[in-house]
Amino acid sequence: MTYATCLACRECGREFPLEPLHVCDFCFGPLEVAYDHDGIQSKITRERIECGPRSIWRYIDLLPVDVDFIVDLNVGWTPLLKADRLAERLGMRELWIKNDTCNPSWSFKDRVVAVASSRARQLGFQTLACASTGNLANSVSAHAARAGMEAIVFIPHDLEAGKVLGSAVYNPTIVSVNGSYDDVNRLCSELADNRHWAFVNINVRPYYAEGSRTLAYEVAEQLGWRAPRQVVAPMASGSLFTKIHKGFQEFQRYGLIEESPVRMIGAQAEGCSPITTAWRNETTNIRPVKPDTIAKSLAIGNPADGYYALKTMKRTDGGSTAVTDPEVVEGIQMLAECEGVFAETAGGVTIAGLRQAIETGQVDPDETTVAFITGGGLKTADAVVEHVTQPIPVEGTLQSFEDAFAEEVGAPQAVGVGG
Ligand SMILES: *Cc1c(COP(=O)(O)O)cnc(C)c1O
Ligand SMILES: [Zn+2]
Repeated sequence: MTYATCLACRECGREFPLEPLHVCDFCFGPLEVAYDHDGIQSKITRERIECGPRSIWRYIDLLPVDVDFIVDLNVGWTPLLKADRLAERLGMRELWIKNDTCNPSWSFKDRVVAVASSRARQLGFQTLACASTGNLANSVSAHAARAGMEAIVFIPHDLEAGKVLGSAVYNPTIVSVNGSYDDVNRLCSELADNRHWAFVNINVRPYYAEGSRTLAYEVAEQLGWRAPRQVVAPMASGSLFTKIHKGFQEFQRYGLIEESPVRMIGAQAEGCSPITTAWRNETTNIRPVKPDTIAKSLAIGNPADGYYALKTMKRTDGGSTAVTDPEVVEGIQMLAECEGVFAETAGGVTIAGLRQAIETGQVDPDETTVAFITGGGLKTADAVVEHVTQPIPVEGTLQSFEDAFAEEVGAPQAVGVGG
């Protein structure tokens, strides 16, 4: 059984049944899953969680899913790495990397899709669908395959080859829309009204959004049951960002961790930074933009949860950053070279955003900090392929190697054994 009780409007509080609904009939506010907090409180303990599976399902008491309907790809419980070398490079004292490149379809989207697909199955849907900037389509396709459901995914026509292949291999129907993500989303919103498809980020969005809270739960548990003082997370629609904060708050509410403020810092690419622009202009009025950046997974020009992301920043004394495409590439390289983690462009945005947040005083380099790395690098290979080390060509002989090696790195000739 689940402790989810209903959907509640984030604006007027009106309640709706746990159905495929996402907007309030009365005020058009977004709906959010509500829970029986007393029921959860009476059951949940650190020990109970620690006995659970090494996946997001260890937090099933906090998710709107009944155990019988779980679509299980073993999502989550990804590594939290202490990043000492990167910390030193950035002049920080304690930095951690939450490495969500380790998920089954190599991005954090597996968390939201695991929850949405399970709920969709419980609601009787046979088809999973989505409007995607790439990673979501990958995860929807994978989860549909795992569940034996149909998948139809909608993507903008100019996606990276790695992101298209990352869906195609699971054999979904892929619709490539001649337009931006925001055009894709508009088309899908119309389709969601007259097709019996579970669009994970539209008509079942309230369930989808809940999956992101598991990132905060895992970080708190992996830090030894405490929250970090500050986090940096990438923002597209702003949903992930707001839900990470909600996750820490819930753990405090249930007494699983001590009450302590978590400062929330968002990261966007300058070529698509409507949330950061609003933050800098000190307004909650977000002006939609036309995206132009290599960080395509974050290229949402009209962010659905941008307003709530801004409120979260304000409430937590947080901040917001925007970095250029060359900085994104530098961020990817810094993370790879210092820590051995190969992130996609969104990860480059996060690391470059972290650096900017330190420079501008939004992040205190002496406080415990977590940076969320939300997707794997092989899907956005084009962004870095021109900027990385090239192989040294040699013949298969010692002499050829020694000559080429000496020329390449200026190293002295190797000394032979016994010589
Ligand atoms: C979708 C996505 C995000 C952020 O998504 P939100 O819409 O803000 O929840 C971050 N990183 C990656 C790699 C993504 O694919
Ligand atoms: Zn309402």
